[in-house]
Amino acid sequence: MPSAKYMAGVDMPGKPEEIKMVSNAMANVPRRKMMAFLAGGERTSEEIGEAVGKSMLDYHLKILEQAGLIEIGAGKVRLSEFGKNFMETKVEKPKDAVTDLSGAKPVEITEVRQLLPCIADSTKFRIIAQMAPPLGGALKPLEPLFPRGRYSERIGALIIQRGDVLITIYGTGSVTMTMIKGEAEARGVLAELREKINEAIAKGVAPAPREKVRVEPMEIYRYLPQTDCGECGEQSCYSFSIRLMAGEVSLDLCKPLEDPEYRQNREHLLVLVEYI
Ligand code: SF4
Repeated sequence: MPSAKYMAGVDMPGKPEEIKMVSNAMANVPRRKMMAFLAGGERTSEEIGEAVGKSMLDYHLKILEQAGLIEIGAGKVRLSEFGKNFMETKVEKPKDAVTDLSGAKPVEITEVRQLLPCIADSTKFRIIAQMAPPLGGALKPLEPLFPRGRYSERIGALIIQRGDVLITIYGTGSVTMTMIKGEAEARGVLAELREKINEAIAKGVAPAPREKVRVEPMEIYRYLPQTDCGECGEQSCYSFSIRLMAGEVSLDLCKPLEDPEYRQNREHLLVLVEYI
């Protein structure tokens, strides 16, 4: 276990085995996502599973706990003092002031439509919904409400990642969701979104820690056609995903993605590249 001084959060770990434990704990994408999520406050393990995925959740939490980065007790998981100090260096500093959104009107969900299954996972669906009135310029200040949310100036939309589900709220009021189990789940998620947004409109948006690390090459690869056709000039779809992550190529070079068959994948990828 890490030393008492280290556990008290006075300092960074000093012993080589402590440094190794922390490095091992943080050398894993789900665990980094969990730490970033917990930087927003204590959560239940269910909430963590919802936000970052349930695969091997207990194991990942144990590793973080053994590294002294989190504490688990009374049904909640929270960052330890050391974990908080550690994350101070890993998250963007929030702005100090609460953003006033009282000029915006409360929103309602006026329409929800379930479309074809996602090609990347035929058990999941794509949903199109409508939020009214459109939030327009009020969308950008809502970004801090969501730990894995990002406002894209280019597409004029707020993109929110929730586990595998990607939600895009456009300034026009259109909302798309990909990789969702079905209309019932979508309606539940939309109701939560509406509540959170309306509360922010009523009370303003408080500053919140935000996550920096967002997309991995495998997440990109998953939505590429995976045919290794070479049209983009790369030997494989995986090498294309690595070069895309490095900013060396653009998504447009993958012409097969323009095939209607891949429309949803392309849409999902266009949103994912906003996180790079
Ligand atoms: S063009 Fe697209 S499908 Fe073909 S190898 Fe490149 S990334 Fe893969």
